[in-house]
Amino acid sequence: MKLNVSQYFQGVDEQKEYEFSLDLSHVEIDGNSPFKSPVKIKAIIDSRIRIVTLKLMIECDANLICDRCLGEYEQGYSFTYDATLVSDANSVGFDEETNEEYLLVVDDEIDIEEIVTDIVLLGLPTKMICSEDCKGLCFTCGHNLNESECECEQD
Ligand SMILES: [Zn+2]
Ligand SMILES: [Zn+2]
Repeated sequence: MKLNVSQYFQGVDEQKEYEFSLDLSHVEIDGNSPFKSPVKIKAIIDSRIRIVTLKLMIECDANLICDRCLGEYEQGYSFTYDATLVSDANSVGFDEETNEEYLLVVDDEIDIEEIVTDIVLLGLPTKMICSEDCKGLCFTCGHNLNESECECEQD
């Protein structure tokens, strides 16, 4: 999913809003495909005196597997992303060290899918817990202690 941004570098001041929905159902995390419903993206591109900025607002629902009880749970996430688009790597101000704020435009295009996939995957927690008080599984018999207590509990 690529967006051609060449018009914004022509020196005409304008602001445009786009809406996308992105199917990330093929993305797997630890063998699980969390994104059953499409990710919603709102993108605002703003061009002022040839300074072009991109703002993304991303909303998604993820079906995740709890690390503690291995149960599936759904959690909504929203992310925002701001960057200045740079049409030429040599232009003044492009700093590789802080490239999260500068996005290099290649062949007049930015790859919304790639950017959003990175943001969403980096934005998900590394520890996934279905709820603060998830009791997890019994170490002995593997029973899900959120559902009921098991026989092993006495000792
Ligand atoms: Zn859990
Ligand atoms: Zn048990």
